[in-house]
Order: sequence, then structure tokens, then C-alpha cells
Amino acid sequence: HSAPFALRVLLNDVVSMFLLRAHAKGLPLHVEFDAALPSWVDGDAGKLRQILINLVGNAVKFTERGELSLRARACALPGGRWELCLEIADTGPGITESEIPRLFQQFEQSQAGRQVGGGTGLGLAISRGFARLMGGDVTVRSSPGKGCVFTVLLVVGECADLGDEATASGSQQPRLVLPPDDAPPRVLVVDDIAENRSLLSHLMAEAGFDCREASSGQEAIDVFRVWPASLILMDLRMPGMDGDKAIVQIRDLEGGKAAKIIVLTASAFEENRQHVLFMGADDFMGKPFRTADLLLKIAQLLHLKLADGRDAPVAVPASDAGLTEPPLSVELLEEWRQALREADLEHIEVLQQRLAVSHPQLAARVAPSIKAFDHSRVLVLLTSPEASPPSP
Ligand code: ADP
Repeated sequence: HSAPFALRVLLNDVVSMFLLRAHAKGLPLHVEFDAALPSWVDGDAGKLRQILINLVGNAVKFTERGELSLRARACALPGGRWELCLEIADTGPGITESEIPRLFQQFEQSQAGRQVGGGTGLGLAISRGFARLMGGDVTVRSSPGKGCVFTVLLVVGECADLGDEATASGSQQPRLVLPPDDAPPRVLVVDDIAENRSLLSHLMAEAGFDCREASSGQEAIDVFRVWPASLILMDLRMPGMDGDKAIVQIRDLEGGKAAKIIVLTASAFEENRQHVLFMGADDFMGKPFRTADLLLKIAQLLHLKLADGRDAPVAVPASDAGLTEPPLSVELLEEWRQALREADLEHIEVLQQRLAVSHPQLAARVAPSIKAFDHSRVLVLLTSPEASPPSP
């Protein structure tokens, strides 16, 4: 998916996603861009972003003391192309020579990797695969006990400088406009890790929300019972009761159906997205996320305007450029959710007939998934217009 993108902005953006986590571990995160690094290039920004998130994420995860850095340079190739060389260096446990080839295979982790826990052992395999697709590679050199340096090489096309870097990437922090006369909307932040809670609370307070925290699913239910919030930011994996179980119970409380719930989780697999929507969440974001994206999502869900007078953009896939239908109402969506969760086929059929009249395009999109009894997929399509249509 080659397209022009602001390279320096993308690199800074990925670093900013990890600054807080690195800071919390006392790790400085340095960025060094060579003067010749172009501002704009033509390439697959999404894949590059994913590679960097994996590698910088690993560096932060595995390093306990010392420092981290991201260095970027580029060499001009013949034919209007650049070879980018990105190095991610850390002072963590490192990797032994004999472990290196295995770690680039799927589902492989080193001794150190298993000790830290979590992770899937997929990041390096995916990163290398993407880099190779882009005419390069991911390699590593390491001195065990001292750290490692991952090198990403890839080829991108030259591109004219398309102007203001900051606005081009949309990375500017949006400001939300809250209704002036009402009390500020309430936000409940649910996460078992105190550091994550305070980061989100701080962000929400800055945006003008009235914020409370809960450190478990059960605590979230208890707080909501006496302090119904308009928005819940819910972690998924927590000791005791997980976020998805808490959502089901909160939906049954007074005011629970009206609350907007965004699940924030470290595992960004599509199945998880389907699962949490099925359990009653309104939306889903993989961690690490950009604060700008979270604020835009909140603006969409709470129908808030942005400070510059825009409405929050609603993502529309290219294939649906002509889609003009309004989103489903909260009540209707809840009716669908219940019918789908209970696999109430008669009710689903009635809803489908109504949808064909009110939202013919959406009805056509969900029809194949309904036919295939893929009820969680149906819900994804009904709730998020950016979801890609089912493959034929
Ligand atoms: P995951 O991080 O999900 O386990 P990856 O494929 O990203 O999967 O990494 C595979 C393994 O490689 C990790 O489990 C860890 O053992 C090792 N590894 C990756 N990056 C580093 C690093 N920066 N320092 C030490 N070990 C690393």
C-alpha cells in the first residue's frame, strides 16, 4: 500500500507512544535523525509503523536500566528511491548468538522473553516479513548482558515535500468542546495497573472530564452503581473479573446501556475486537494507542465537537466512499446486540428486514455474515463503519 507519508512525523509519533512507559521505567528514549533523512517518502506507512511499534515496544519491555534509542538515516538509491536504515538500540538483557535465528520464527521466545511474560512471539516474525516485502530486512546484533541493536532496512520511493509535517499526519492533539452549561461528563478509568490509570486520568482531566478510577472489574461495577459515568475506558485483562465480564454486568445496571464503553487492550487481534463488541463494548483500541486517536474516538462516541469547529471524522473505507447512511441509533444497536448474543434467529430476521428499509447499504454489507451465522462479525460491521467487509 504505497502512498506518500511524512516519515519524520511517523518516527516521532511512534516514539511518543512509548515515552511515558519508558519514562516510568526511568529509561531515556533518544531519537537521532540524520540530516539527510527525507521528510516525506512514498511507501507503506502502516507496515513501517507496525514494525517500529514491535521493535521499540520490545526494547522498552525487555530493558530495566540504561537507555533506548531510535536512529534513522537514509541513502539515496538510483531510480528515485531511498534505502532507509532504522536502528533501535537498548541496554537490556540482549540475545545470545544461538537464539537469534529462532526468535525470528513465529511463536518463539528466548528464556528472557518467557521470564518477562506476555507477548506472543509473533512480533519479530511479522516485522521481518513486512521489511522483506518492502525490499529490506530486520536483523539484530547483540552482546548478551549489554543489550541489542535491531536494524530495519527498507526501500521507499522519493516524494516531494508535501508541506506542513505536523498537520499532515493528523498527529496534532485534538481538543474536545464540552457542553458549556452541563456538568462535565463523567469518565470511569478501569485498569489494574496504577501507572496506566493515572496516565488516562490525567489525559481525561486535561480534556475537561470528571474522572474516577477503578482497579478491577468488580470495583468498576461498584463505582458505576453509585456514580454512573457517560464513558468507560476499560482494560480487558485484569485479575479477578476481566473487563468483558464487567461490561456485561454494567450494561444491566441503571444507566448502563447509555454509557459508552471503549475497551483498551494490549492484544489487538481482530478476534478480540469482535469478542468485546459482542460482550457490549462500543469500541476497541489496541495498546499502545495514540492519545489523538483516543480523543477522536471519544468525540465520535459522545457526539462532541472539536475545538477547531470540525465534527469528529468518521472513518469510511474507500470501498464505501458513497456510503451516506447515518449510524444506527443506540437503542437499535442494543436490540441487535441482544438478538445476536442470544442467537435469536427470528428476531435477527425482523431486524434485518427493518435494516433493509432504513439502511439498505449496511443491510447488504451484513447479509453475508448473517447468512454464515457469523454473529460477532455482524456486530463489528454494524458498529464500526471502518471495518472491512467480509471476504467473499
Ligand atoms: P514477543 O515480544 O511477543 O515475545 P517477539 O517476536 O517480538 O515476540 O520477540 C520474540 C522474542 O525475542 C522475545 O520474547 C524475546 O525473547 C526476544 N526479544 C525481542 N526483542 C528483544 C530485546 N529488545 N531484548 C531482548 N530480547 C528480545
